[in-house]
Amino acid sequence: MQTQQTASIPAVRTRFAPSPTGDLHVGGARTALYCWAYARRHGGQFILRIEDTDLQRSTPQAVKAIFDGLAWLGLAPDETPVYQTQRMDRYREVIQAMLADGRAYRCYSSQEELDAMREAQRAAGLKPRYDGRWRPENAKTKGLLPQAEQPFVIRFRNPDHGVVSWDDGVKGRISIANAELDDLVIARADGSPTYNFCVVVDDMDMAISHVIRGDDHINNTPRQMNILKALGAAIPQYAHLPMIHGPDGEKLSKRHGAVSVMQYELDGYLPQALLNYLARLGWSHGDDEIFSMEQFCQWFSLESCSKSAAQFDFDKLKWLNNHYMRDALGEELGQLIAPRLNLLPEQRTQGPALEQVIDLLKDRASTLNELALLIPAYYAFDFPRPEGLDEMLTPPVAQAIDKLVQELEGLSSQPLEPTQVAATLKTVLASTGLKMPQLAMPLRLILLGRTDTPSIDKVIALLGSRRLHDQWQGFRGASAVE
Ligand code: GLU
Repeated sequence: MQTQQTASIPAVRTRFAPSPTGDLHVGGARTALYCWAYARRHGGQFILRIEDTDLQRSTPQAVKAIFDGLAWLGLAPDETPVYQTQRMDRYREVIQAMLADGRAYRCYSSQEELDAMREAQRAAGLKPRYDGRWRPENAKTKGLLPQAEQPFVIRFRNPDHGVVSWDDGVKGRISIANAELDDLVIARADGSPTYNFCVVVDDMDMAISHVIRGDDHINNTPRQMNILKALGAAIPQYAHLPMIHGPDGEKLSKRHGAVSVMQYELDGYLPQALLNYLARLGWSHGDDEIFSMEQFCQWFSLESCSKSAAQFDFDKLKWLNNHYMRDALGEELGQLIAPRLNLLPEQRTQGPALEQVIDLLKDRASTLNELALLIPAYYAFDFPRPEGLDEMLTPPVAQAIDKLVQELEGLSSQPLEPTQVAATLKTVLASTGLKMPQLAMPLRLILLGRTDTPSIDKVIALLGSRRLHDQWQGFRGASAVE
């Protein structure tokens, strides 16, 4: 009987590993999104690791910003988040094991000594690097012996020869000669483990299969790979994402506009718009610009990520946000808009249902905040006499409005449908010989105090014939045509 061989497919486990030293920026959010999508695509797990070992720079507010940002975007980790500060014993344990069998060693060189070493190397035209003087065999040859209580750091014994190579998921093959790398400090004089070392132990212990991160970490990769090899750990697939630049080609920073994810929430962007935008920023699937996260997860691959830096385009993000606002239900937007509205509760009861106003206006705004600015006009009716109204209200126009108000009030089916209002307007125009704008413009001013509004039939249908009647009474009385 033939036995069937099934190739074992390694489980996909990705991680997002932010250092909580500030807000969650769009660059970090994009990395998180790609890690999340890759895990979704391959039925794997997406893990969050808080790299908080830098006690000076890590803050609880920054940790909160990471959680808030990921939650707002809907990028939920599949396992309980890991904090590096809670893993110190584990790092120490690995360091001790490495010290015990010579994969790491104590280095007693003082800072002054290291500075002098580098200075001498530079003067000799060499690349400055630690010369390995405290490697046990070198120390022995040179007769170096530590003094009692002399402080030391612990260094990883990097291989001297050969090349570290990997097929980067985004950048392709990358090779670095070991001769370029010196013996990395893995524990400081106070015993605390260093950044690159913690990352390695975590990636190993968490069985990370794919390290997807910004290309500012490329230089760390060969060092991390060497330590992983020394620990006998599997080497993950690395993929380094190019940076995000501002519209001027410089690295994206605050001066280009918002960089913090939660600022986009405050500014009135929808998470689905920012996600769609970030997905396309450095990755493409043909000409597709608008797609759901389900589609993105199906399509996402590291090979289709761009090798060169992406440029942040605020106009395109606005365009996408407008698209997702138009797509959203008035009710859904209502909940997001309500806290942004500059309206008194009693004003809210004077006008139509908020969802209806939103449905009328949502395609006219790029953000929730822009939309929130358009809405109060539909609730606040005691505005001063609009400028330009008197010039528009010639006797035939005023009479036509009288007629329109009368006819609309007489319609039995209330609330009105825009088609009914349009038909009534048409009859009034036909009977008076006036043109649409001659009537529509003053009607807009009377109802909303402004002329930039959606089509007048829709506005009247929404506000109702009674509101039109009352507004007209208010403004007609003071009109010169009386
Ligand atoms: N903590 C690093 C950062 O915030 C990321 C480390 C990694 O992804 O390996 O830049």
